[in-house]
Amino acid sequence: MALFFPGQTTCALCDGVLTDRDDCVGTSHFIAEGNHPLWRFSDAVMHRACFLRWDHRAAFVDAFNTLNRTGKRMLADGTIRDPLWRRLAEPVIDAVVAIESLFRRRPAALESNVRKRTRRQVGPRLLMTSP
Ligand SMILES: [Zn+2]
Repeated sequence: MALFFPGQTTCALCDGVLTDRDDCVGTSHFIAEGNHPLWRFSDAVMHRACFLRWDHRAAFVDAFNTLNRTGKRMLADGTIRDPLWRRLAEPVIDAVVAIESLFRRRPAALESNVRKRTRRQVGPRLLMTSP
């Protein structure tokens, strides 16, 4: 990851000073060839807003995903996903999607089960709090 000193480091695209409150995109030095047109951006930090309106954003994302050797993937908005994180998160996301899909397909049946459980759980509590 590029070195980033809030209040000192400047955005590689607009030269504005970056603060710790700025939403930024930054990468490590992933372009080895000094004559590559995007080389100077390969170890830099930039405002995400500047990045999102940058004419070379798609080429930069493609270069990152092709040239970096860490297995990390950059999304179109500059977010970088770690392969380990992806491996851990994807099963959770798949499970959430499956549950959501189940709710969409069988809302009445699930709602009925939730009501039964709620009645069972609420009943004893009501008895305990009664005078
Ligand atoms: Zn900027």
